[in-house]
Amino acid sequence: MSNRAYNFNAGPAALPLEVLKQAQEQFVDFNGSGMSLMEMSHRGAIYEGVHHEAEQLLRELLSIPDNYKVLFIQGGASTQFAMVPMNLLQPGKVASYVSTGSWATKAIQEAKLFGETAVAASSEADKFMRIPSFAELNVAPDSAYLHLTSNETIEGTQWAAYPDTGSVPLVADMSSDILCRPLNISQFGLIYAGAQKNLGPSGVTIVIIREDLIGTPSIPVPTMLRYSTHAKNDSLYNTPPTFAIYMTNLVLNWVKAQGGAAAVEKMNREKADLLYTAIDGSGGFYRGCAQEGSRSIMNVTFRLGSEELEKQFVKESEAQGFVGLKGHRSVGGLRASIYNAVPLSSVKALVDFMGDFQRRNG
Ligand SMILES: *Cc1c(COP(=O)(O)O)cnc(C)c1O
Repeated sequence: MSNRAYNFNAGPAALPLEVLKQAQEQFVDFNGSGMSLMEMSHRGAIYEGVHHEAEQLLRELLSIPDNYKVLFIQGGASTQFAMVPMNLLQPGKVASYVSTGSWATKAIQEAKLFGETAVAASSEADKFMRIPSFAELNVAPDSAYLHLTSNETIEGTQWAAYPDTGSVPLVADMSSDILCRPLNISQFGLIYAGAQKNLGPSGVTIVIIREDLIGTPSIPVPTMLRYSTHAKNDSLYNTPPTFAIYMTNLVLNWVKAQGGAAAVEKMNREKADLLYTAIDGSGGFYRGCAQEGSRSIMNVTFRLGSEELEKQFVKESEAQGFVGLKGHRSVGGLRASIYNAVPLSSVKALVDFMGDFQRRNG
């Protein structure tokens, strides 16, 4: 399709064209049922088939062990910022966080509503342009959990590997990098991710939680905000966001058809290498924001010599069919979000545009 934009949006973000076409084909009449999936009961066999396929695929693609539940919840990752401490922070314990940027900061703010928090490490002194090393982590022994933000979408940093936290459950916000690479789920107590970056449309949040952490919260927690409610009811306690889960299921099938998480990681690294090589090889015309070793393979942040030139870059890129290259308003600069569904051809087109822009303005 020649009128497809080069979509580098940070979220909601690009979906695979194949998935969009499949959804279009099934939109009015789902598999000969005479109705759209959106018009069906979430208690009916057809929707339940989709619901359970999505769960099974996620289990398969991320090798999720049997002692973990996979939940579909609404409210976005932002609701998880509260649900995690509401459900996991017991009295006398402290909620520990790694402070790595904009999203980690929001998670910490929310936890403060429910008890004592501690910062196990912070990269704020470096303007959040790096991920702290394992050696810097100072996890209070009485921590209910240690929370980290796997990929800081706004700053463009990403944990290359995850710390071993021993008996302290590791909680990770993977909203912007879930399924970008294989994971060892047993390293984690809980993982959450809003779907709209790497998994599907907005409207559904994935929670992967080890069963022993589901228990009963120590404070009164509304029914809908208890993990146990969703775990006991297969995420069908109330009406789930059926269309968002359906779309996520299509994306998961697409990831499987690409060869799974390892194959997708290979494609992601190729895309990221191409961009970072272009930035590093520009003789200083483009400057990467994140420190080497902390660079994200999902959100590539970079700057030009002046804000004026950055504005011009955005304007000219838009005229040539590129979308979403303006950095987040809180940090400025430029950002190319290259999630799983962003094709290599888009990244190649961007690198060509960057070279051309430099020739004209360097
Ligand atoms: C986008 C994002 C969020 C917020 O997600 P919502 O679904 O909008 O609440 C949280 N954390 C990270 C890392 C994100 O990228």
